[in-house]
Amino acid sequence: MVDLGRRNFMRAKQVTSAAPVRLPWVVEEAVFTAGCSQCGDCISACEENIIIKGDGGFPEVNFSLGECTFCQQCVVACEEPLFHSLETTPWQLEISIAASCITTKQVHCQICQDSCEPEAITFTYRHGSVPQPEISKADCTGCGACVAVCPESAIKLSTSSLGVNHE
Ligand code: SF4
Ligand code: SF4
Ligand code: SF4
Repeated sequence: MVDLGRRNFMRAKQVTSAAPVRLPWVVEEAVFTAGCSQCGDCISACEENIIIKGDGGFPEVNFSLGECTFCQQCVVACEEPLFHSLETTPWQLEISIAASCITTKQVHCQICQDSCEPEAITFTYRHGSVPQPEISKADCTGCGACVAVCPESAIKLSTSSLGVNHE
């Protein structure tokens, strides 16, 4: 007998959990999951080893393993038509820093800034407080280099509600 209560709970869980970050330059989620064969070639091709087999068997990027260098090898390795032109923006991810950032506890830390090549993270002195990080979303490429280095795992990159900007 089907347990409707459990099924509805599982559905609600799927709806509320964050959408995975797929590969750079990837097409819309529904098109991707319809066309990806789950062959794993992109996982083998990634020189940074940041692509994992996620829920449902589809590949996803895990920035806690490292950063994306935008080397394009995952796209080149894939035999399916699942990507936008490499001339376009690889992806548009929402970046956020949680309150668990240790600067909120008056501890000096600027590790994320040191890891950010595009210099999208700056530290601002505030009266009575140690410097706190601020991110220029316009300068953030979504490389994820700041994620793994944070001692509090306070930085998150997630799929933008605005979708991917392929201008
Ligand atoms: S672009 Fe390169 S570093 Fe980034 S996910 Fe693809 S293979 Fe990995
Ligand atoms: S190489 Fe392409 S088809 Fe194969 S798992 Fe990766 S995205 Fe899917
Ligand atoms: S994800 Fe953005 S803020 Fe973090 S290191 Fe990369 S460019 Fe900088």
